[in-house]
Amino acid sequence: MNKLTDKFGRQISYLRLAVTDRCNLRCQYCMPAHGIDIVDRKDLLTFKEMYRITRTLSELGVNKVRLTGGEPFVRKDFIRFLEMLSFNDLLDEINITTNGALIANHIEKLEELKIGSVNLSIDSLNRENFAKITRRDVFQEVYKTLELLEKSSMNLKLNMVVQSGINTHEISDFVQLTEEKNIAVRFIEEMPFNGVGQRATKEVWNYTAILKEVASKFKNIEPIVSEKSSTSKNFKVGGYKGTFGIIPAFTRTICGDCNRIRITATGMFKNCLFDEGVFNVRDFIRKGAGNEDLKDLFLKIVKDKPENGFVAESNRRQNKKVSESMSTIGG
Ligand code: SAM
Ligand code: SF4
Repeated sequence: MNKLTDKFGRQISYLRLAVTDRCNLRCQYCMPAHGIDIVDRKDLLTFKEMYRITRTLSELGVNKVRLTGGEPFVRKDFIRFLEMLSFNDLLDEINITTNGALIANHIEKLEELKIGSVNLSIDSLNRENFAKITRRDVFQEVYKTLELLEKSSMNLKLNMVVQSGINTHEISDFVQLTEEKNIAVRFIEEMPFNGVGQRATKEVWNYTAILKEVASKFKNIEPIVSEKSSTSKNFKVGGYKGTFGIIPAFTRTICGDCNRIRITATGMFKNCLFDEGVFNVRDFIRKGAGNEDLKDLFLKIVKDKPENGFVAESNRRQNKKVSESMSTIGG
């Protein structure tokens, strides 16, 4: 079988698929208060197109898919799409990233469908601060989802985007959660993917600063050996049930082991989070491409995967500086 391998020998086995560009929240680090210009519904990939893309990629070695957005659960019939996807016997794992505000009633169904892990975005443990960050007062719904997921059979990871002067005082509260809860908290470096561009901040909260902050509050921090392609560097406080990790999303020190590609909600194929999209698969399919055409295309474009996110960013032609919303890319 032909496998997706780039010119640096990295094998691609992980697809991040954005099922929509719409969202029910307005997180400050992701989009402006008025939201983003969403595309016409007809320009979004249909679920059938997503299934075809995923199936074809899985025949080339992709065995793990993360569904994201926008908010995946705002797309009508998303659960039916999960059912459809679960028929793909070449996938070992189907995972979801969600803000959790709409999913409390779907947890049992997700367990039934054998969803492997849910990444829940929660940037504050304080209702007012949460509302300030997301511009929506839904902390209680999200926390309820957190508790239900914790009791479920699925792995739970919490994503906390570290925002200078906004939630950095809560970093230790998140680590503290892992004392009694068997969850993985992940601190994400903020990137300028917010629909506007880099935000001016007084302090830099990168990997080193985040780790230093945790180390100043917790003495016995132990590193954990993670999968080679892990996006986070992971740790544990001795004796605690859960773990914490840091995702160097902006300082980009993890690119060497990258095994990921992305498809946006409009079918744009991305070799890297920082590239501006390399090929529109939706248009190719709608012009009549067959599955073998798709495979040839994927095998070819993956070869151009840039060595790292800095190279990808410098190769941009149109939008020289990254500023598009993560909601359109699929985080
Ligand atoms: N709406 C879902 C959610 O929030 O989990 C899924 C889509 S969201 C774009 C995926 C992930 O990207 C979330 O964990 C979010 O916190 C993260 N994200 C969004 N904008 C970001 C930014 N500018 N920098 C770093 N992470 C960001
Ligand atoms: Fe929506 Fe997720 Fe972006 Fe927040 S981070 S605005 S929940 S897409």
